Order: sequence, then structure tokens, then C-alpha cells
Amino acid sequence: MAQQTALLETNYYGGAWQGNTASGTVDITNPATGEVHAQIGLSGPADVDAAVAAAVAAFPAWRRTPPQDRIQYLFRFRELLLKRADDIARTTTMENGKTFAEAKAELQRGIENVEVACGIPSLMQGYNLEDVASGIDEIMIRQPLGVAVAITPFNFPSMIPLWFLPYAIATGNTFILKPSERVPLTARLLFELLHETGLPAGVCNLVVGAKPAVDALLHHKDVRAISFVGSTPVAKYIYSEGSNYGKRVQCQGGAKNYVVVMPDADLDMTAKIVSDSAFGCAGQRCLAVSVAVTVGDAGKKFNQAIVDLASSIRTGNGLEKGVQMGPVITADSKSRILHLVEKGVKEGGKVLLDGRKSASGTTGNFIDPTILTGIDSSNPLTSTEIFGPVLTVNESNTLDDAIETLSASAFGNSAAIFTSSGAAARKFRYEVPAGNIGVNIGVAAPMAYFPFSGWRDSFMGVLHGQGKDAIEFYTDKKVVIERWPKEWARKF
Ligand code: NAD
Repeated sequence: MAQQTALLETNYYGGAWQGNTASGTVDITNPATGEVHAQIGLSGPADVDAAVAAAVAAFPAWRRTPPQDRIQYLFRFRELLLKRADDIARTTTMENGKTFAEAKAELQRGIENVEVACGIPSLMQGYNLEDVASGIDEIMIRQPLGVAVAITPFNFPSMIPLWFLPYAIATGNTFILKPSERVPLTARLLFELLHETGLPAGVCNLVVGAKPAVDALLHHKDVRAISFVGSTPVAKYIYSEGSNYGKRVQCQGGAKNYVVVMPDADLDMTAKIVSDSAFGCAGQRCLAVSVAVTVGDAGKKFNQAIVDLASSIRTGNGLEKGVQMGPVITADSKSRILHLVEKGVKEGGKVLLDGRKSASGTTGNFIDPTILTGIDSSNPLTSTEIFGPVLTVNESNTLDDAIETLSASAFGNSAAIFTSSGAAARKFRYEVPAGNIGVNIGVAAPMAYFPFSGWRDSFMGVLHGQGKDAIEFYTDKKVVIERWPKEWARKF
């Protein structure tokens, strides 16, 4: 039920909250209840200009702040994130729909990035060599770029901003977050906590908006680097537009993740893990399994086991106890997903588990776990990203055939194999064209000290988010060659 709510200030720059209505306003709706719990303004170019100006102004002093001092703010931020974890998770559940436990888990993965970035005084070091020629030394030092921007999606409102923010500022850059306009309230809370750390004004800035705000950031002469996470069509646009305007750009795109189930796998364990992967966060994870390919006779047991497990998943409002799966983000997403399922069925697919008439009612965007089989490879259910709680199960005679099937996908975010054979696992790891590989793992999410990889249409760029790649992305290398003839020392 829509109700009148006050317009919330969601832009933060120059160390203060700022209003913005340049590109209109949007209601933030709880996907589980349909209730509007906030109304926000959308930024336009003038808001972006003001935020970039604040970030530019803060850069010289921040860059000169010793790394050891810069990370003290991150230590404080980590403590506040832990202290306010329940509030952050509740906010995420209310605007995104995932369960409270899922929201807390994603925050934990975000906090791990803050912890890794606290190692910047070691991680950011360059290297040197004396006597590259007689009396000549060579030094490589890393310097921050200037103003860095991250544009993030709706599905991980706390974690994904933290893939970028801690590394960007720890390396001495100033930073602007442009979160998804569908989930701005979690980002707002993160910035309230950053404000509490006493971080100097302009070091971290928040601009909430849609395409007009993104375009203003892409085209701004003072923005040096852009990180993007979201769907592939937008990733491609941002990669080409940002590069065209001379920015350093990294774009993580959409996904279509396959799991191969071998007959020698522990099929009960596999069904449990694959069910969690496919239906966790209502399938709205870029690492969610979307297609399971069973090899040989694995399907006989696996299919029944996963249907049994998935049919017992309780959907509902993620703030209620016992709820295991929330709604999808919007009513439009729900109807898009249902349309895809209906098309799959119309074109010969068989429904093993039908979640189209969710028991959770009609006020929220609920779809219960849905499992289909017999879907042709050309059907959009197998060729496009669904981003909902829908799993397709296909059969294959051999591991080679299964690898060939998944290699035909345009995406390359993640793929997993379930097997007890080391040789099968190695072959899979070696041959599969995807950036994050799981072996008996359903969601192969790299820890903060490893790069969050992704290949083909799932990633555009060279350096990934997280870990050492983040240090490379956020710094420029400078090489200094020095000649100090020893004769000069004799003068003293
Ligand atoms: P999205 O592409 O719609 O939006 C992402 C961001 O881009 C938002 O901040 C949005 O405001 C902005 N945006 C949207 N349309 C734009 C346009 N036309 N021009 C400029 N900016 C635009 O993505 P989403 O629906 O918020 O998130 C879901 C997608 O993100 C899925 O495709 C999912 O696979 C992907 N994702 C990928 C990863 C990964 O690591 N590869 C991680 C999480 C999510």
C-alpha cells in the first residue's frame, strides 16, 4: 500500500547530506509487501558536478595523508559496520527483499574487503633495484589516480559498494558511489557510518540517480576511473563510453552459470548445494546456478532430490523467522521471469517444480522455486540470464558434451562441477571458459583477497575487483631512474 513519505536526502558530498531532485523522484518499495517506505530524488549533471568538485578538492590532502593514517578510518568503519550490522541487514531486506540472514551474510563479505584494504601500507608498496647500470637505481612507486567512481547494482546493496570503496580510498583516491536507485537506503546507511568515522569531507561521496547521473559521471573530465557491476548491456555501454572519455574502466556484467553433476558425485550433498545456489537470494545472484547439466545417469537421483529440497523452501517476507527465500526485486522482474517460464513450457519444456503460483500471496513479488527440464538450448531460458528462482535441468552423455554445452554460453562468470574424480575436476578447471570455478562448490565467490573474476560477456576490462587487482586498478605506476655518481659523495 503506497503511503506518503518524506523525501529523503540521499546525496552526500563535501561531508554533508544534500538534496537532489534534478531527474525526478522514485518510491522505494518493499518487494515483499508492496509498501513504499521512502521517496528519494534522482540526481542530474549539476549534482554530479558538485560531488566531483568535492572529491577533487579533497584529493590533494588525502593523497598526502600517510597510508597508515588513511586506514585508521577504515578500522573505525569496520567497527561501525559490525556494530550496526543488524540495522544494515534490515534495511537491505526491506529494499531488496532478500532474507535478513542473506543480507547479514553479504555485509560480512563486504566487511572482509574493508579488512583487506587495511593492509594497504604493505599491499601498495612498489619495488626497486640498485645498480641497473653502474651507480644508477630504479624505483617503481604507486600513486593514486584521483577521483574514482563505482556504479553498482541492486542485488548486493552493501557488499558490492565495498568491493571498491575501501581499496579506492586506502590507496589515496577520493571516491564517488552511484548505487542502484532501486536500493539507495543501504548505501545511505553505509555513508552515515563513514561520516561517523570522521573521514575528511570529500573523500567519500554518494550520488543517487539513474542514467543521467551515470552519463554525467562517464563524461566528467575529472573522473579518472570507473568500476561498474550490473547487467551486460549496461556494462558494455559503460565500458565503451568510459574508455572513449579516457577513463580507466572495469565492468562486471551479467551471468548464466552452469553446474555439471557427474554420476560419481555425492548426489544428496550436490542437490542441497545446487538448490542453495539456484534459489538463494531468489536467484538474484550473479553467481547463482541457472542450468544444471547431469552427466550419464546422475539425473535419475539428482532431479528427484533437488525437487524434494526446493519444494520445501519457505518463501515470504525476509524479516520473518523461518523464511528461506524472499521475493524478486520488482513486479516487472516477476512478470519477465514468469513470461520466460511460460515460453519455455510452450516450447516443449516440462515443469518438475512449478513455483509460478507462489503460496506467499500477491502483494509481494513472489515466485516459488521453479525447476524445468527438456528446454532447448536456443530457448531464452537457457540462453539468457533469468535472475530469478528458476533452474533448468538438462542431460548430457559425457563430461565433454557437458563442457561443450556450457562453453557455448556468451557469459563466463562462473561454472561448477560436482564429482569425486580429481581427473574430471581438473579437466573442468582446465577447459571451462569462466572466471570463477567451483569444484563441489555451488557459489564460487572469491574471498576479498582474490580477484572477483569473470570472463567473456560477464566482464569487460583487464583488472578485476578485490585483492591485488584492486590495488593495480586504483594506482598508477611511476618508474624513477636515478643517477648519483659516487664521486659526488666525496665532496662531503
Ligand atoms: P543494471 O545494469 O540494471 O544496473 C546497474 C547500475 O547501472 C545501476 O546503478 C543503474 O542505475 C545503472 N544503469 C542502469 N541502466 C543504465 C543505463 N541505461 N545507462 C547507464 N546506467 C544504467 O543491473 P541491476 O538490475 O541493478 O543488477 C543485476 C545485474 O547485475 C545482473 O545482470 C547481474 O548478473 C549483474 N551482477 C553482476 C555481478 C558480477 O560480479 N558480474 C555481480 C552482481 C550483479
